[in-house]
Amino acid sequence: MDIARLNINELRLLLDKKEVSVKEVSEYYLDRIDKLNPRLCAYLITTNSNAEKMIDKAQKRIDNKQSLNLTGIPLAIKDNICTEGILTTCASRILYNFIPPYESTATKRLLEQDYILLGKTNLDEFAMGSSTENSAFCVTKNPWDLETVPGGSSGGSAAAVAADMCVAALGSDTGGSIRQPASFCGVVGLKPTYGRVSRYGLVAFASSLDQIGPITKCVKDSAIILKTISGNDASDSTSAPVSVPDYEDSLGRDIKGIRVGIPKEYFIDGMDKEVEKVIKDAINHLISLGAEPIEISLPHTEYAVATYYIIATSEASSNLARFDGVKYGFRRHGKDLMDMYLKTRSEGFGAEVKRRIMLGTYALSSGYYDAYYKKAQEVRTLLKTDFEKAFKNVDLILTPTSPTVAFKIGEKSNNPLQMYLSDIFTISINLAGLPAISIPCGFAHDMPVGLQIIGRYFEEPLILQVAYAYEQSTNWHQKRPILD
Ligand code: GLN
Repeated sequence: MDIARLNINELRLLLDKKEVSVKEVSEYYLDRIDKLNPRLCAYLITTNSNAEKMIDKAQKRIDNKQSLNLTGIPLAIKDNICTEGILTTCASRILYNFIPPYESTATKRLLEQDYILLGKTNLDEFAMGSSTENSAFCVTKNPWDLETVPGGSSGGSAAAVAADMCVAALGSDTGGSIRQPASFCGVVGLKPTYGRVSRYGLVAFASSLDQIGPITKCVKDSAIILKTISGNDASDSTSAPVSVPDYEDSLGRDIKGIRVGIPKEYFIDGMDKEVEKVIKDAINHLISLGAEPIEISLPHTEYAVATYYIIATSEASSNLARFDGVKYGFRRHGKDLMDMYLKTRSEGFGAEVKRRIMLGTYALSSGYYDAYYKKAQEVRTLLKTDFEKAFKNVDLILTPTSPTVAFKIGEKSNNPLQMYLSDIFTISINLAGLPAISIPCGFAHDMPVGLQIIGRYFEEPLILQVAYAYEQSTNWHQKRPILD
């Protein structure tokens, strides 16, 4: 039996039937990480020592026949999600030694089921980037081709899932950071509706856009994890008081008659032709399963990237003000307070983070606020209205997740604008606060391609239903990179 390939339910069955123990499974994964991580750098740290206690607790629960969905299931967590007593660095030098005194709500809900935390995964520093090259510690490699990027910013989580170095992982998505790496690594990535999952304990990048979500090997695992981490939370006032459905219930339902919108603005000049063909084939496949295609227009799409880079940087400039070397993290001494701040922040932050703090501070400064920040907020409303209008006539929207497949390491690192364009199809969804998934739908240039399915607010069940129907009638999600 190859433990590495198992999904949550398959492993659940084996654990509950006592065909394997939690210890065996966890050790299997930790060994695999030891073997592969030097090449891939998907993990920043593993939790070998802490794992012992978790393993015992999970095994007891199983022995008492009280296992829940995730009891004893080894998962990886993006390193911008706080884990109490366990290093959480955001892949930044400024937090190189930060051990949070509290647990994020999302991981607390996993802990309530006694999951196994394998380790914390690499990311672009503070989740700012699309390639995981902005990590202060190492560049994660794409398991499908070690010379290419895994996408970002949740590149470590996506690579860990694709390389079977965990069963599933959590990522965070501010402008595409779950979906784009999932697409580049050939796995499933879901960004929930804004407010669906509590942000408590997720180190804030852009608070009005950030969401935590699952990166998994299949759609059912995505439903299982989403169900566990979702729900209202008194510690996050932006979490929604909306009840959590059983996301597994909609899986397996017929998709006949579901109206799918194809936005003409998402099939643009300059898009990779092979990617475009793979996406069109995937859409045709859904049509053959009974989905009804309708051409739609999202006319303000061309302004999305510019709008995002005003709003996200403005929020980041304010959120990152707290990292000043006073209470925690990296600190450089100076001749006075100002000098200490200056040295700490100049040496503690990497180039991209500094670029964004400067952009955001500028956009919020007096005299420029109206021209940039206020304007961007107005355009954000227009983008949201585009989707609201479209969703009057369609139930879901289908697009590519990214205009290209994974690019080479270094290819875009000196050209921020090129890098920003990698998220052109994912960013508007965050600006509107909508839920969307990326699922594997084929290969172009021998690298995975992802199909994005966008839904109405809180209609994750419908997204999962269609994603599942696609997945179950194709075999893309079963393909794995060859690493051994
Ligand atoms: N790539 C986008 C950025 O650099 C999105 C990042 C994210 O979703 N965290 O901001």
